[in-house]
Amino acid sequence: MEVNYEPMWESLGLDLAAHDELLRILGEGYSNIFLSQENRPEGMSYFDFVMSEVHGLRVKELIDGQNEGRKVIGSFCVFVPEEIVRAADATLVGLCTGADFATDEVDKLLPRNTCALIKSAFGFKLGKVCPYIEAADMLVGENTCDGKKKSFEVLGRLVDNLYVMDIPQMKSSEGRTLLRAEYARFKDAVEELTGISIDGARLKRGIEITNNKRRAVHRLNSFRCADPAPISGLDALLANQVYFYDDPVRFADSVNKISDELEPRVQSGEGTFPKGTPRILMSGCPMAVPNWKVPWIIETSGAVIVGEEACVGERGTQNLTSDAGKTIEELMENILDRYFQIDCAVFTPNPDRQQHIEEMYERYNADGVIHYGLQFCQPYQFESMNVETALEKKGIPTLRIDTDYSMEDVGQLKTRIEAFIERISQL
Ligand code: SF4
Ligand code: SF4
Repeated sequence: MEVNYEPMWESLGLDLAAHDELLRILGEGYSNIFLSQENRPEGMSYFDFVMSEVHGLRVKELIDGQNEGRKVIGSFCVFVPEEIVRAADATLVGLCTGADFATDEVDKLLPRNTCALIKSAFGFKLGKVCPYIEAADMLVGENTCDGKKKSFEVLGRLVDNLYVMDIPQMKSSEGRTLLRAEYARFKDAVEELTGISIDGARLKRGIEITNNKRRAVHRLNSFRCADPAPISGLDALLANQVYFYDDPVRFADSVNKISDELEPRVQSGEGTFPKGTPRILMSGCPMAVPNWKVPWIIETSGAVIVGEEACVGERGTQNLTSDAGKTIEELMENILDRYFQIDCAVFTPNPDRQQHIEEMYERYNADGVIHYGLQFCQPYQFESMNVETALEKKGIPTLRIDTDYSMEDVGQLKTRIEAFIERISQL
């Protein structure tokens, strides 16, 4: 029986007509892009279900949890330590969004030359179509790029539950000291919000739950090194996107079920694409739901994506947090160790990211790299030039793309991507 979620959406203050329209567009896009793929692992049906219920059942679960005392914390960045949130029995959900909405309203608040990701988050808030931002007990903004930093000043005028975390810009000892202090302050804020005092045992459990999600993604990714690729890049990206919304234990189980299918596929040489299909490593800005444009173009142009060097991808999930130690101080230091390795382009200098791209290119047996930059994203657009030069110098074919969430450039992108695939096919 179909559940009527309208009363729930109404109680969250959503604009029901606009929200219906969003769900219609999302459903249509999902069906055209994902359900039309061939030879998908059966386990992807779980993710089809999650996407069909992304504003329904999952939101209801969060609200049911709130009624039992569990808080919901929304974040825009992988620097927000999930371990601390889980340690306080709270839920962390990602709030980055991958579609334009209420653009006229957004343009009244933000400069036009703001990246699509930030504009989209504001569009979903102003258009009243995001149940997650409305349901959250606390929103966490982070001082990473200038666009986010300044936009949180604006967001702070629209909501009364914004918490801003400072993030260092350099991987120096001073930067580490700053992040340590900010994580301690965040722990205090989570304790105050939830009324739960986080001790060593709780933090250990938060580390274990979060690590298990990461382990599941690492396992799935390990099968993507094979040729033929046993899963499409679109489906793997979807799993990485759902990582930010789903119940963590259920998510890890569901990803592991897919891996259980991929293992025999790899052993028997079965793939979603034929053996020898050109293999692409994506690198750059995060792609939040429902931003599937470029992967869709790539995988309908004769190539397969085998890895994502991005925050919705390996930059966000790589490295486990050590659970060695018992005291809160030791475990907080482990969390700091893990997050301080994130090689986001807001850091200067940022050589680790270049090394990670090259290492992923080798590990996933890629044939070329497509650097994905959002227009007006200074950190990644700046880095993309050096990335391209350094990779090409090493003989790694690289294509640099700057785009946004509109569909206007699909034809032009397809032409460039097809030419790139042609180039790597001849090597
Ligand atoms: S790209 Fe940087 S700012 Fe954006 S989510 Fe990742 S770590 Fe955060
Ligand atoms: S895509 Fe770039 S400009 Fe946009 S929020 Fe992320 S780092 Fe900032």
